[in-house]
Amino acid sequence: MPVNALYRDDFYLSTTEAVVTAIHDDGGIELDQTCFYATSGGQPGDTGFLERADGSKITLGQTRHGAAKDIIIHVPIEGQAQPAVGEKLVMHLDWERRHKLMRMHTACHLLSVVCSYPITGAAVGEDESRVDFDMTDTIDKDEVTTKLMALVEQNHPVYLQWITDEELAANPGIVKSKNVRPPVGLGRVSLVCIGENSAIDSQPCGGTHVSQTKDVGQIHIAKIEKKGKENRRFRIRFGAPGDDA
Ligand SMILES: [Zn+2]
Repeated sequence: MPVNALYRDDFYLSTTEAVVTAIHDDGGIELDQTCFYATSGGQPGDTGFLERADGSKITLGQTRHGAAKDIIIHVPIEGQAQPAVGEKLVMHLDWERRHKLMRMHTACHLLSVVCSYPITGAAVGEDESRVDFDMTDTIDKDEVTTKLMALVEQNHPVYLQWITDEELAANPGIVKSKNVRPPVGLGRVSLVCIGENSAIDSQPCGGTHVSQTKDVGQIHIAKIEKKGKENRRFRIRFGAPGDDA
């Protein structure tokens, strides 16, 4: 059943009431609405727990999409009680983890501003993220860190603009990523905009982001690896450059 994905309009929603609409054979739970992000676009799905009316908890280890993009399945870890269809629950996401993912995900966007090469892959993680670029140039990682931190400190607003799938198809140039598909299939696509009037960047993305660049906090490029002749892998970590030792 199509879910009302509340996180699409509010990245800061960490709890909500929801009603169970389906239980899958593997124990996966569908709800009428959710604040849990489902794995996609290089960002891992949310974890957390469902609180039942009696106060007991169902711990969720993973959130993923079903056969279609508008299906979201909340997967409990092993040994959890199964709720009933129609049961009303309160969802609580692991906010500390999600906020780190939002900071990291936003950092990946900033990196694509500093390094304006086509992106060939990306994976957001709570401790480290990586972005692969189609490039042959050699760049100094500390120089990239300095440029990234300048964008963080300038504290640009980060916000969404919605366009239709047709508008995106008519403007293929706004997609920076070579093989991460933009989040089409829902009729509308979110553009993640950075800076007043998208002065810094705008990029189709269905992930979750912080609302201003300052909230990314201290990050640095820990490593730039050569992955093939025309591919460079950048690893972003939290903390200052000296923190890696
Ligand atoms: Zn994004």
